[in-house]
Amino acid sequence: MPEADPESITKIDGHYMYEGKAAAYLIVDGEEAAFVDTVTRFSQPALLRALEAAGLTPEQVRYIIVTHVHLDHSGGAPALAEVCKNATVLAQPRAGRHLVDPTRLIAGVRGVYGDRFDELYGVIDPIPKDRVEILEDGEFREMGNRTFTFFDAPGHARHHFVIQDSGTNSVFAGDAFGTCFPQHYQAERPFLNYVCAPPDFDPAVAKKTVQRIIDTGVERVFVAHFGIVNELAEAHEQLFTTLDEYDALVNQAAATGLEGEKLYDYCGDATTQLVNKRLTEADLDSSDETIHFWANTEHMITSKGLAFLAEKRRG
Ligand SMILES: [Zn+2]
Repeated sequence: MPEADPESITKIDGHYMYEGKAAAYLIVDGEEAAFVDTVTRFSQPALLRALEAAGLTPEQVRYIIVTHVHLDHSGGAPALAEVCKNATVLAQPRAGRHLVDPTRLIAGVRGVYGDRFDELYGVIDPIPKDRVEILEDGEFREMGNRTFTFFDAPGHARHHFVIQDSGTNSVFAGDAFGTCFPQHYQAERPFLNYVCAPPDFDPAVAKKTVQRIIDTGVERVFVAHFGIVNELAEAHEQLFTTLDEYDALVNQAAATGLEGEKLYDYCGDATTQLVNKRLTEADLDSSDETIHFWANTEHMITSKGLAFLAEKRRG
């Protein structure tokens, strides 16, 4: 299992879909706090409980930082901003637009989740424009004794940035550094995967972002799914390998000539096979109930993203 989180950081389980899937983080510095991601509006009680446990009130939240606007991370931001009246919502330029006017975002996600949208995300209100601050690549903000530096982080999504925190020498990576679930650790070795979300997934760009995170020289990375990654050299290697494998899978899928549902099914089967192969190589037992569930049910978004990219590559 991974090392414990640094003292000023609280990982909060947003209970999105099931326990241990999507996290928000609370960063406390003296009398102020910041949330990194919000999960959904249904996660708000858990976020406010963490704040209370840290001895702070909603009025003391200075920033609500949205790594990217996929709704399992940003869906709770409008409702949280209402309660945390003094907080500024910080976002990447492409993300900021969607927060202020979520119409297109909602339509896109409804297209993926259909009728499950309401149960998963509920109502997504626009955030008033004067509450949202757009940060360009390399900009920074101070909170207490620490500096947050923001870097554009495309690859998973073009509206993604990551946050380097000087206080803990960490990067908060959202989905830009893959996924790493604590229960997939095997003998101190993490197991990383990557969510290849449509329509922006680009493996070459994703690798550049991973490299940039590594090049910051931080000691650890916090990922949204789900926790702390301390073994950065190992993680770096795994992410590069898995992104190359997804890249090859897209080319194979493009070469099949399959379209629509059939192309999606092809990508789904190939992804499940790939993930199971990697689990075996990592000595993780894919017949274990939680691992089996994850390995065989988690790839809807990746399958859609790979199929989308295969069609794009055909031109
Ligand atoms: Zn995402």
